[in-house]
Amino acid sequence: MRKLILIKYASEIFLKGLNRNKFEKKLKDNIRNVLKGMEYEFFIDQNRWFIYGENIDELANRVKGVFGIKEICIVNEIEANMDLIKETALNLYNEVNPIDFKIETNRANKDFPLKSIDVSREVGAYILQNTENAKVNVVKPQCKIIVEIRKKAYVYTEYNKINAVGGLPYGMNGSTMLMLSGGIDSPVAGYMMARRGVELSCVYYHSHPYTSERAKDKVIDLAKILSSYTGKIKMYVIPFTEIQMEIMEKCREDELTIIMRRFMMHVACKLADKYDINSVTTGESIGQVASQTMEGLIVSNDAADRPVFRPLIAFDKNDIMDISREIGTYETSILPYEDCCTIFTPKHPKTKPRLKEILNSEAKLDVNALIDRAIEGVEEYNL
Ligand code: ATP
Ligand code: MG
Repeated sequence: MRKLILIKYASEIFLKGLNRNKFEKKLKDNIRNVLKGMEYEFFIDQNRWFIYGENIDELANRVKGVFGIKEICIVNEIEANMDLIKETALNLYNEVNPIDFKIETNRANKDFPLKSIDVSREVGAYILQNTENAKVNVVKPQCKIIVEIRKKAYVYTEYNKINAVGGLPYGMNGSTMLMLSGGIDSPVAGYMMARRGVELSCVYYHSHPYTSERAKDKVIDLAKILSSYTGKIKMYVIPFTEIQMEIMEKCREDELTIIMRRFMMHVACKLADKYDINSVTTGESIGQVASQTMEGLIVSNDAADRPVFRPLIAFDKNDIMDISREIGTYETSILPYEDCCTIFTPKHPKTKPRLKEILNSEAKLDVNALIDRAIEGVEEYNL
């Protein structure tokens, strides 16, 4: 007998029809990537995916973070023979010692001489014979002992299940340019897109010398945390000071934020275009701050030439904070380095900007030249 990891992937992948092969291939590649440097064996037994290795805890720990995997189970692999199946099931029963139990059999190997229902009955009877107080409950048992019969047999209980991250295989659903600030929201927004299979690149607008190198390092650290889920991420740091100075000089103070947000959108789209990225993602949430009113979002969205995704749009701040704790970005996000907006924030920003007026103000600036110069100054990081 040996212990293996059984991988159960998201049922959505089953629905992908002809694309299913592509999804499975991507998922396998992504599993291989997170296991780089470890000794293990990956194999498939009648459509079920298994991993064997000495360091099963670390293997499980890594695999459960791969997007597209719903659940993993630590299972006992044995020869498909009734004596061994009974013995293994009894051992598992004794480990858990539940109030009541049920055997559930899944026979993919039709050469196996007994039908599923007969396997369940025999194994159940064996446990009843060899224990004192065992009780069967087929409706709502405390412990389900699962027997899967394929080329080999795999026996486990629900107590051996570990929830994985779910989602869809990373890299299967296009690409997005994540506007990543040092705040709480944008790393969560990036995580949510990546979890649905969208490949991430990040852009950060840096206002040297008004924002420190430490603020930039913080954003790099956040991108690194995201890359622990996705594998390598490209991050682009864009010098933003010239744009902000120009807006301060030439536009009304209360329009500063909204015009700045439009520039962020312009630059993100232009960068996305340059690197062949389909879309842009932000951490915006409706009503959260002055620039995230419906009117504000409409005006900044107008600067985009491709779809802008805002996965947090309808989330409360508390819920966003919970996710950020879960994914490990919270502690970094709350470090107190200033972000670029603190210095250039007007006292009374417009909360109901009108597109026509903002476009008039923007016309006082050489928008294209400013965008081009910002992009020329890009610094690239591979994280
Ligand atoms: P976050 O917590 O993500 O910083 P926020 O609540 O502070 O969001 P804003 O500062 O208005 O909100 O920013 C809204 C969105 O704009 C952010 O979620 C992020 O996607 C993007 N953004 C803001 N500042 C920057 C920046 N300096 N560089 C890149 N993207 C930024
Ligand atoms: Mg912010």
